[in-house]
Amino acid sequence: MADRYFVETPITGETATIMGAESSHLAHVMRAKPGDRVLLFDGSGAEFSARIERVERRRIELTVLGREEVDRELPIDITLGVSLPKGDRQRWLVEKATELGVGRIVPLRTARSVAKPTPKSLDRLRRTVIEASKQCGRNRLMEISPPIAWPEFLSYSSQATVRLLAHPRYTERSSDLPRETVSGEPVRLAVGPEGGFTEEEVAEAVRAGWHVVDLGPRILRVETAALLLAAQAVNLSVS
Ligand code: SAH
Repeated sequence: MADRYFVETPITGETATIMGAESSHLAHVMRAKPGDRVLLFDGSGAEFSARIERVERRRIELTVLGREEVDRELPIDITLGVSLPKGDRQRWLVEKATELGVGRIVPLRTARSVAKPTPKSLDRLRRTVIEASKQCGRNRLMEISPPIAWPEFLSYSSQATVRLLAHPRYTERSSDLPRETVSGEPVRLAVGPEGGFTEEEVAEAVRAGWHVVDLGPRILRVETAALLLAAQAVNLSVS
């Protein structure tokens, strides 16, 4: 795939400007010069071919040559509610979820959550989404929502027909889910913190109609469980 660059401002006309970290990378690492061709995306779903006209220190100006709708999204809309792990593991989770095609991550505040996402850390995660999208070819950005409390996530999800909560040692296996349940439906997934969901939190979800699923006999890290559950949902959707 050609080098792809993200443009913050939606591209509507015949010119585009790459700013900030993205422009330094292009100018200093890729040694871009006027006349070079690149691919741009602005998160709207389209991909743009463009020619570099001017390279400045924190700004690159381009002429847009063409626009093409290139859909690399999943056929289903996956929302992953997860009590985020810390530091690098958080970034890893966001990178991989972007690659898998998850639509949105909702950081959960649960009784045993430890990481407290701040506006700054969420912005860093949004940057990770952009980097992963450049690499994997996604033209829509996975959303990172503001953190919400567990009961709010349950009510936010009440309209979704497929709702899966991962909880160890539960009876139902996620691999047992009938495939047709997922095809074409909005999917909500929930993964707890290292300390797990409390029994009360699980009970609340069950009362709200969630399926509780076991992911096997080993206890997985938050990010592994989140990725496995997301991959299973993806797999159901494409089969
Ligand atoms: N300390 C907890 C495990 C927490 S693991 C305990 O022993 O119960 C962190 C989260 O990952 C869990 O809340 C759950 O959502 C998910 N998870 C990890 N391993 C799992 C498994 N084998 N089955 C289902 N969910 C799992």
